[in-house]
Amino acid sequence: TLDASFFRRFLDRTAQVVTAEADRLTELDAAIGDADHGTNLKRGFTSMAGALAEADVRTPGELLTAAGAHLTNTVGGASGPLYGTVLRRMGKVLGEDAVAQPQTLGRALAAAVASVRRLGDSAPGDKTMVDALQPAADAYAAALPGGGTARALEAAARAAREGAQATVPLRARRGRASYLGERSVGHLDPGAASSALLMTALYEATD
Ligand code: ADP
Ligand code: MG
Ligand code: MG
Repeated sequence: TLDASFFRRFLDRTAQVVTAEADRLTELDAAIGDADHGTNLKRGFTSMAGALAEADVRTPGELLTAAGAHLTNTVGGASGPLYGTVLRRMGKVLGEDAVAQPQTLGRALAAAVASVRRLGDSAPGDKTMVDALQPAADAYAAALPGGGTARALEAAARAAREGAQATVPLRARRGRASYLGERSVGHLDPGAASSALLMTALYEATD
């Protein structure tokens, strides 16, 4: 059931995994950025989970909107506003329903990716989080009709991990890594790696 508890599990799980993987994310960012991606996300998602534990939110829409606003306000760097936008946009699409419809979650994911692309002026192939998020949203939409929510979320998580891995041979065209030009080739994009963690957490929230 895609209720507020489901989305709380998603956010708590995300806070746990970005904390567990913070060193790896920061190492990825050390190679082609400024070595703060893991630190940024660990701080932001942990403080967000803490703030939401106290908050009186009843619907998925309210929860994700509050979560996104918190991230935008607490995470420095490019990724804070981008992930803040992901969550706020999802919250907006999910609206005021107590339980989201599986198709509505699909629309929320698609809208979230579109808003990242707009805010970041980025597209698939630019070696950013979009390279994980776009295939995830597409895979969810493709798998939902025949498979149901859990299968669709599983497919989305797999597509995000594959999309992240596929950033290795790409040359970065957005963000700090783009300053490196050809030297960005051969490295996994940190934001694509963290987006794969988020999508995996969303699948794992189905318990
Ligand atoms: P900063 O680069 O400001 O230190 P982070 O290290 O937290 O921020 O996040 C870097 C990640 O943000 C990149 O790996 C990339 O995936 C993502 N990113 C940066 N710029 C953009 C953009 N314009 N569009 C989409 N994603 C971006
Ligand atoms: Mg960085
Ligand atoms: Mg930075």
